[in-house]
Amino acid sequence: MIESFYPPQRTLMGPGPSDVSPRVLAAMARPTIGHLDPEFIRMMDELKQLLQYALKTKNALTMPVSAPGSAGMEACFVNLVEPGDKVIVCQNGVFGGRMAENVRRFGGEVILVEDDWGQPVSLAKVEAAFNANANVKALAFVHAETSTGVRSDAQALARLAQANGALSIVDAVTSLGGIELDMDGWGIDALYSGTQKCLSAPPGISPVSFSERAVAAVKARTTPVPSWFLDTNLVMGYWGAGVKRAYHHTAPVNALYALHESLVVLQQEGLEQAWSRHEQHHQALKQGLEAMGLALLVDPEYRLPQLNAVVIPEGIDEARVRARLLEQYSLEIGAGLGALAGRVWRIGLMGHACNGKNVLLCLAALEGALIAEGVELQRGAAVAAASAVLAA
Ligand SMILES: *Cc1c(COP(=O)(O)O)cnc(C)c1O
Repeated sequence: MIESFYPPQRTLMGPGPSDVSPRVLAAMARPTIGHLDPEFIRMMDELKQLLQYALKTKNALTMPVSAPGSAGMEACFVNLVEPGDKVIVCQNGVFGGRMAENVRRFGGEVILVEDDWGQPVSLAKVEAAFNANANVKALAFVHAETSTGVRSDAQALARLAQANGALSIVDAVTSLGGIELDMDGWGIDALYSGTQKCLSAPPGISPVSFSERAVAAVKARTTPVPSWFLDTNLVMGYWGAGVKRAYHHTAPVNALYALHESLVVLQQEGLEQAWSRHEQHHQALKQGLEAMGLALLVDPEYRLPQLNAVVIPEGIDEARVRARLLEQYSLEIGAGLGALAGRVWRIGLMGHACNGKNVLLCLAALEGALIAEGVELQRGAAVAAASAVLAA
C-alpha cells in the first residue's frame, strides 16, 4: 500500500517556488465550489481587481492563465505573433532564450539582442536593432532575470518600443511583488507573471495582462490564434467583464483561492512596503555574505533584491554545500543555470520567505556548510553583520 504523501517542512530560498504563507495554504484548503458558481464569479472579479492593483494597470484584459509562468509567456506570444512578424527579443539569461523560441515556433522572425549573463539588456543595442529593422511588431524582454539576478530597465525599454511603434512584451514573473513594476505608467503592452516567486502562492498560475493596443493587435490578426486554450478571444468569454460567464475550461478553483489570498496579503502590506522589505532584507543578506568573504555576481546598480547570485569560491563542491543545507537545515537554495551553472548559487528572498529569520538562517547555515568544506572564516561574523542591518 502506498501511504499518504507528507512533504518535509522546508525553507525555500531558491529561485522559486518560495515559501507559501500559512494564510495562503489555509485559503487553498477551503471547500471547492463550481467554477460558474455566482460566489466563485464574485471571487474572480475581486481577483482581477487585485491583479490590476499589483500590476498597476487598468487593463480590462487582466486575468490568471490556468497554468505556470511558461504558459503565460506562451499566451503573450501565441496571441501577438503572426507568421512573418518581426520581434526583437532581448536575451541576457535563460528566459530571453525561451521567448525567442516562442517567437520562432509561431512563425515570427527573431531579431536577437544579446547581452552577457549578469548584465542588463543594453538600451543602445535595442535602439540599434530598431534602427536596423523596419516594421518591428514587438520588443520582448525579461524585467527580472531569475537565472542571473539582473534587473533590466523595463520603463526605458517599453518607451523605446512605443517610440518605434512596436508593442512591448514583458516577463514579470520574478519582478511582480519584489521590485517596482508599473504596467500602465511605463506603457507596457503585454505582461505575464507567476504566482510562486514574490507573490508566494503555490506554482501553477500565471497572471497576464494586455493593454488596449495589445488587444487591438490580437483583433487585427489575419490568421487565427494557433492555440485553442490560450486564445484570449475565447478565454475572455470566461474571464471578461460584462459577459455572461461561459464555460471555457474548469478553472483551478482552489489554486485561485490561494492566489486571491496572496494578493490580499500583498494589498494589506502595500506594494511600496513590499518592495522596500525586499530591498532591506537583501541589504542584510548582502552584508552577511560579504562578511563571510562571498561576493555577489551582479553590479549593485542593476542587482535584484529578491534573487541573489552568489559567486562560488574556488575549490568548493557547490552541490555538496546545497545538499548539506537541505539535509541539515531543511533549507533550499538554487544552483546556477545555463552559462552560470557551477559558478553561482542563487539565493532567493521572495515574498513570504523574505524575512529576517530566513536571512539569519541562511547565513548561519551557509557558514556551517563552508566550514565543513574546509573554508576558513570567522564564525558568527555574517550573522552579526546582517543583524546590524536588520536592527537599523
Ligand atoms: C520562473 C520563471 C519563469 C517560468 O515560470 P514557470 O512557472 O516555471 O513556468 C519565466 N520567467 C522567469 C523570469 C522566471 O523566473
